[in-house]
Amino acid sequence: MTRDPQESLRAQRVVELLEHNIRTEIDVQLGMAGRDLPDDLRMNLVQGISAEILYAFEVDWDPKWVKAGEIHAWQVDDSWYARCGVCLLDSPASPTRDQATRWATTHQLRHEDEYS
Ligand SMILES: [Zn+2]
Repeated sequence: MTRDPQESLRAQRVVELLEHNIRTEIDVQLGMAGRDLPDDLRMNLVQGISAEILYAFEVDWDPKWVKAGEIHAWQVDDSWYARCGVCLLDSPASPTRDQATRWATTHQLRHEDEYS
């Protein structure tokens, strides 16, 4: 079965985002417990847990806080980022939320052109 390249890109991003979320939770839990693990062991845990989830469950990035038609945007330090809802690519660092979401909106429109 040949997969749509857009679907493959999204599926790859879902794996990256799942691994990022698992890594973040492991780091938070270890930090709260005042414990540490070597980085290679943390990554083995991330990849092992992610592989088990992906093997047994249907997984997609579908955050409850992003309503249909809205753009997911967030701030890290002084920069804003926004995520394309189609391929899940993140915007470059932007100085404002508006600039980040504008990037994502413009980027998403290119996907619509690809399918028209
Ligand atoms: Zn995209």
